[in-house]
Amino acid sequence: IGLDALTHWHRAHPRGTTSHKGRQGDVAVLGGAPGMRGAAWLAATAALSAGAGRVYAALPEDDGQPWPARPELMHWPKDRWHEPHAWREPVVVAGCGGGTALLPWLDAVLHDARHLVLDADGLNLVAQDEGLSRRLAARRSHGLQTVLTPHPLEASRLLGLSGVAAVQADRLASARALAEKFDCTVVLKGSGSVIASPGHLPDINSTGSAALATAGTGDVLAGWTGGLWAQARDADPHEVARTAVLWHGAAAQHHKGPLRAGDLIEAMAALHRD
Ligand code: AMP
Ligand code: MG
Repeated sequence: IGLDALTHWHRAHPRGTTSHKGRQGDVAVLGGAPGMRGAAWLAATAALSAGAGRVYAALPEDDGQPWPARPELMHWPKDRWHEPHAWREPVVVAGCGGGTALLPWLDAVLHDARHLVLDADGLNLVAQDEGLSRRLAARRSHGLQTVLTPHPLEASRLLGLSGVAAVQADRLASARALAEKFDCTVVLKGSGSVIASPGHLPDINSTGSAALATAGTGDVLAGWTGGLWAQARDADPHEVARTAVLWHGAAAQHHKGPLRAGDLIEAMAALHRD
């Protein structure tokens, strides 16, 4: 089930013998509002398991509750929140469990992040705000790259459609319309995820199963995408997204029984080919 593509990815982006964490790439996960911090935790853990060098959790409105044990993860430093251009260098994965707590940071992220994966509430907030929507659509013309990972409801909001049925009626056309509207790579999730980018033929992913229909698997995909991208900054975002989606689905197929999103990360890690 497409594991050749994973081998190909590893050959194209090897971890050099003399590499160090600074070379493997930084990821900052912006999300995890109070009550939804698990989403940020899953995305951050996925980025780490994908092989990123350093992963930071940027939790707006951090309520000081204990963060689930994962000692490798770091908190986005307090002084960096207000620093100009702080979001420029890491791959930013924004939106997972973010709620409206994201809103004060989203404009700066859209403005600065050279590599951005935008998911969940990041997408919902953009759909509600004309200014953010324009900012997102202008990113590519400023040399900034973006992958959007909407599920069908998020896609319908972004396209201003009446609901999921309108998106699902022609998933290929919906994904292409989003890629065109926001001038970036789009993963329209669901059975047969569609990956569409400007100037590319769209791909329909062939891996995955309904075992993925459970809370948190989307956060894992967003984090994994960011984690791969951090190690391959020059890679085509379409290729990064396609690889992450394929890997995510292949791991789900390899797994037996009900799939918790945390287990999915382990199953994906087991498919590393290097
Ligand atoms: P989210 O809706 O953000 O939680 O993301 C759910 C993830 O699971 C996405 O990667 C979907 O493509 C995947 N997924 C959900 N349901 C299915 C399904 N029935 N078949 C294949 N993949 C699915
Ligand atoms: Mg989601």
